[in-house]
Amino acid sequence: MAKKKTISLLLTAGLVLSVNGVSAQEPSQAPNAQSATAFDNKVIKKISADNMYDTIAKLSAQPRAAGTEGELIGAQYIKSQFEQYGYETELQPFPFYEALRNNVSGTLEVNGKPLNPYVMSGSYSGEVTAEVVYVGLAYADKVPEAVKGKIALIERGDITFVEKIKNVLDKGALGVIMYNNSGTTNRFGSANPGQNIPAVAITRAQGLDLVEQLKAGSLTATIKVEGSGFIEKTSYNVIAKMKPNKNKDTGQVVMVGAHHDSVPGGPGANDDASGVSAVLELARVMAKTQIDTELRFVTFGAEEKGLLGSSYYASTFSEEEADRIVAHFQMDMIGSRDAGGDHPAGGLIMYTIDGKKNLVTDLGSAAGARTAAAETIPMGQLGRSDHEPFHLLGIPAALFIHSPLEPWYHTPADTIDKIDKNKLQETAEIVGASVYQIARPDTPALKNARVAPGLVDYEFENRSPGA
Ligand SMILES: [Zn+2]
Repeated sequence: MAKKKTISLLLTAGLVLSVNGVSAQEPSQAPNAQSATAFDNKVIKKISADNMYDTIAKLSAQPRAAGTEGELIGAQYIKSQFEQYGYETELQPFPFYEALRNNVSGTLEVNGKPLNPYVMSGSYSGEVTAEVVYVGLAYADKVPEAVKGKIALIERGDITFVEKIKNVLDKGALGVIMYNNSGTTNRFGSANPGQNIPAVAITRAQGLDLVEQLKAGSLTATIKVEGSGFIEKTSYNVIAKMKPNKNKDTGQVVMVGAHHDSVPGGPGANDDASGVSAVLELARVMAKTQIDTELRFVTFGAEEKGLLGSSYYASTFSEEEADRIVAHFQMDMIGSRDAGGDHPAGGLIMYTIDGKKNLVTDLGSAAGARTAAAETIPMGQLGRSDHEPFHLLGIPAALFIHSPLEPWYHTPADTIDKIDKNKLQETAEIVGASVYQIARPDTPALKNARVAPGLVDYEFENRSPGA
C-alpha cells in the first residue's frame, strides 16, 4: 500500500468523507450465517496457503522497488507462472520519473545577500539572475503578466507546488522562490518533469522579509541549482487474461489485482508479495474452471511511487473496455499476523474510494460469511492502493486489506516470518468465491441469480489503517 500522501491528494481533489454508502444491490434478507456451498467449493477447496507462502518466499528474497532489477526479476517470475497456468500474458512496460537526490546543490542571493535555500525535489538545474516579482499564492488567474522574464516569489499553500510552478511558467517566469506558509523550515516542495525552471524554497520569515523589502523597492535575485532534475526509469505491469468460450461469453470482465513492487530496501513480504501470492493462486485455481466472463489477473508496478502502474494500465482502456469491466478486486497486505488489531476476521476490511458499497463489497462480505473467515466483512473508505484508478473509470472496485496496519509497514522488517497462512487462506477464499460468483456460467453474474449464494447485511466502519 502506498503512503498517506495519495489520500491527501484525493481529498484535495474534492472527495468528501461519507458514512454509510448505498448498496449496489439490496440484501435479499439472507441470513448472515451461511456455509460454503457446492458452488464455492469448486474454487475454495483448491486454494492452498502453502502455495501462496512459497510465492511470498520467492518474491521477498530481495527488494522489488519500481525500476530496479529486483522488480523485473519478480515480474518475470509472475509472468512465467501465469503462462504456466495457461493464460495469455503480457509484461507491460511503462516509464516513470524519479527526482535526483544525490549531489544536489543550490544557492540564492537577493540583492547580494545569500539565503541558503532548499532545492525543491526535481527542480530543473540552471542559473538565473532577474528581478523578483511577488505573485502571492500563484493562482492561475492571479499571476501578473509582470512576472514574464522575472523570478516569481510565491507563498506556499492552497494549491500544489506543481500547479504554482506551472502557473508562473505559463506567464513566462524564469525562476521560482517559494516561502513556507508556517513553521521555520525551508525543506518542502517538488517540481514535475518538464518544468524547466529552477525552483528553491525558503522559510516563512525569509519570505515575509522579501515581501516587505519589495514594498520599498526592487529586488534582484540569483538562483543557482546544480545536480537536480529527473531520471527516467521503467516499471512493469504483468497482465494475464483468460477468455471464456465464444458460445458462453457475457462480454464482461472481472479483474483481480495486487502490486508486485516494494518500497526501496524492503522485502515487502506483506506489502504486497502477499497480494500477488493470492492473485497467482486464484489464477492457478480458476484456470481450469468453466467461466462465462473474462478473467483478468494483474500485478502492478510502481504502486509505491503513487499508483503509477495501475494508473498507466487504466489509461490504456477505451471507454468500451472500461464499460466491460464489471469489478476490480485489489488485494494489498493480506497476510500479516500483526495487522488487524482485535477486529473480527483478522481485521480484514474492504475499502472503497468513495466510502460506498458496491458489487465488489457486496460479494466480498457475503463470501466472508460462508468461507473460512466465517464473518461478514465490513467496509470502509480509503484510497492508497490500485483500486483507485479503476474507481475513477466508474468500475466497482475495492481494496482487501487487514487494518490497522502492522508496525513494520514499509520497513526492512516486512519479512516472511511474520506472514500468517490463515490470513492468506481466508482472504483468497473470499476473493475467489466472489470472483467465481461473477464468472461461473450458471449465474447471470450481476443480477439476482437464484443458484448463487445470497447477500448479507454488512457495516460501514470508520476504521483508519494508521501509518
Ligand atoms: Zn506499501
